[in-house]
Amino acid sequence: MASYKFKCRDIGMDCDFKASGKTVDELMPKIAEHAKNAHHIEQIDDNLKQKVQSAIKKSMF
Ligand SMILES: [Zn+2]
Repeated sequence: MASYKFKCRDIGMDCDFKASGKTVDELMPKIAEHAKNAHHIEQIDDNLKQKVQSAIKKSMF
């Protein structure tokens, strides 16, 4: 089954956070929560959202 993976490092953060989910919709809230807790980003704006979405990779594993 496919999964979607995100690495904080891929958007230029010096951070080892990784998240994965079965869908992008499942993954986004995990990233949002991490951004808030670890990077004090209260709200993901459109600019950052685009960055995050382009950093999400689809994996077959
Ligand atoms: Zn991070």
